[in-house]
Amino acid sequence: MTDNNQSKQIRVTQPLLPDLEEFTAYLRRIWDDRWITNNGNFHKALEKALGEYLQTPYISLFTNGTLPLITALQALHITGEVITTPFSFVATTHSLWWNGIKPVFADIEPATCNIDPDRIEAAITPKTTAIMPVHVYGYPCDTKRISEIAGKYGLKVIYDAAHTFGVTVDGKSILEAGDMSTLSFHATKVYNTVEGGAIVCRDEQTKERIDYLKNFGFANETTVVAPGINGKMDEIRSAFGLLNLKQVDSAIEQRRQIAIQYRHGLKDIAGIRFLDDIASVRHNYAYFPIFVNAEQYGMTRDELYFRLQKHGIYGRRYFYPLVSTFSPYRGLDSASPGNLPVAARIAREVICLPLYAGLEECNVKRITDFIGNI
Ligand SMILES: *Cc1c(COP(=O)(O)O)cnc(C)c1O
Repeated sequence: MTDNNQSKQIRVTQPLLPDLEEFTAYLRRIWDDRWITNNGNFHKALEKALGEYLQTPYISLFTNGTLPLITALQALHITGEVITTPFSFVATTHSLWWNGIKPVFADIEPATCNIDPDRIEAAITPKTTAIMPVHVYGYPCDTKRISEIAGKYGLKVIYDAAHTFGVTVDGKSILEAGDMSTLSFHATKVYNTVEGGAIVCRDEQTKERIDYLKNFGFANETTVVAPGINGKMDEIRSAFGLLNLKQVDSAIEQRRQIAIQYRHGLKDIAGIRFLDDIASVRHNYAYFPIFVNAEQYGMTRDELYFRLQKHGIYGRRYFYPLVSTFSPYRGLDSASPGNLPVAARIAREVICLPLYAGLEECNVKRITDFIGNI
């Protein structure tokens, strides 16, 4: 960590951090109260504040973003087969494995990198019980088509909304889609509580059940209603999260400005594609993926990726390799490359460029100039 070059390196992300003095003042209150976890005052305050910010009254906080996926499947009693996308972070599919559910991978759409509704319908079998799509890079899935399919076949829908903090469509929260949505507040996300996450559901009774499940299944001091887990968020992270919530809108605005600058700098480079904004969507600019067409650009994605690194520019190949190629899953029929040609191509082409609140204009220019002149 003492490497002098670190100052010249541009990392893919930097965490949003609260003002240290404000955080210290909150810590002092926690020390005074001597209440550090189990639904304390900061936890209650954060749950309420997030419910209001996200326009989702029924929200349950967790200690990370993976336990919400696992717990949502428990809360909805999902078994059998679940259709999901291979183009995501591994946690999505791992949550199925942890529940003894067979993942069935369906290919994605090139325009959004999200699961293709037509391919969902084609993957349904008598054992299918649910669909677990991901709003990749914060771009909304085709929630209308997915809910039509779910309705037609009697399936539940759990959205992995880890990338989608603060995203709205026509002014309405994207988290309203499906039976449940899960969030991650990991350090690398637009909004973080160091580690953290949440489940958003539709009614008070379901929230209560989720609250039991994240606390070992305890409904009260002497009653355990289900084999729950420990997924609770503590007071220190809740306090951190309350402070970060105050600055998340300004962080998203800074990210938007950087995305505009990237698009401007990259628009005339042959072989480099990027995603545009959608008019009805309030984007959160969680990531800035570019897709390298090796033939047109004259260089493969990996060549560009490693050249950028040599130059001190650290992007990430989200999501390469595809989840379906990892050893626990590669033996599944649906994991065969022939079933997932679009996902395989996108995974081969993508680099997420550095993007975080505070990334300087001159550094964005350095990155786009490098990609343009190489
Ligand atoms: C970050 C992330 C998660 C959850 O990750 P945690 O690190 O456990 O918070 C789940 N799904 C996706 C798509 C993610 O990017």
